[in-house]
Amino acid sequence: MVGARFTKVDQRRADLRFPFPPRFPARLAGARVEALSRRAKYLVADLSTGESLIMHLGMTGRFTVEHAHGVITPGEFHYAPGTMPLHDHVVFDFDTGARVTYNDVRRFGYMDLVPSTGLAACKHFAGLGIEPLGNALSGETLAALFRGKIAPLKAALLDQRLIAGLGNIYVCEALHRAGLHPEAPAGIVATRTGRPRASAHRLAQEIRAVLNEAVAAGGSTLRDFAHADGSLGYFQHGFKVYDREGEPCAAPGCSGIVERIVQSGRSTFYCARCQPR
Ligand SMILES: [Zn+2]
Repeated sequence: MVGARFTKVDQRRADLRFPFPPRFPARLAGARVEALSRRAKYLVADLSTGESLIMHLGMTGRFTVEHAHGVITPGEFHYAPGTMPLHDHVVFDFDTGARVTYNDVRRFGYMDLVPSTGLAACKHFAGLGIEPLGNALSGETLAALFRGKIAPLKAALLDQRLIAGLGNIYVCEALHRAGLHPEAPAGIVATRTGRPRASAHRLAQEIRAVLNEAVAAGGSTLRDFAHADGSLGYFQHGFKVYDREGEPCAAPGCSGIVERIVQSGRSTFYCARCQPR
């Protein structure tokens, strides 16, 4: 997409999770994509019009990329189209001949157009916490963020105002790897004066590790999730606790059974042996 110009945007519904911005197709048509980036769980395309297209995949959003002209090179430019056209909600056509289709079964995703200047202050990004794969994430930072907090560790890690971009799966996995109980108060990783305990360093390290492994494995795929090329990610095979209720804990030498509890309406999976209270 970088360097390509939108030739046509087919918006097939008025809304996803939220309404599309006014005149969405018209504001994109003719615009060139200057840069692509990510902030938290948002994909960001900076446009030649001075606006940025912000895209959030919600739970089941996915982009399918098709290259419509020229030599089709499997694995390089050609991707199988989505399997459920009913859920294709936006189709972007580019002057390169590429077509990018947004498919979203549950429609928790959304898109917006905001001025590129002052992007950090826009309603989507204002107040977002640190990037979990950025330099800022460390034992010291976690201790400073969680100091004195009685909210459960699970909730604190999912709080996008503290750390932006960590979701349910990776929080469960990181807590398991760090040997921390999901219901323990977040403040346990810090001393009274806000200094990191060993658990803070361990947690920071495991958050990075689990995310890096997931990226290397092509991301996670859950049921109706799929990759841009239509294939499934493989990281789910590497889950130690997530979605494994009643199964033996996968940690070497552990005889525990994975348990499931519900915290703030979301399932938490953990091993009480690896993660004692
Ligand atoms: Zn275990």
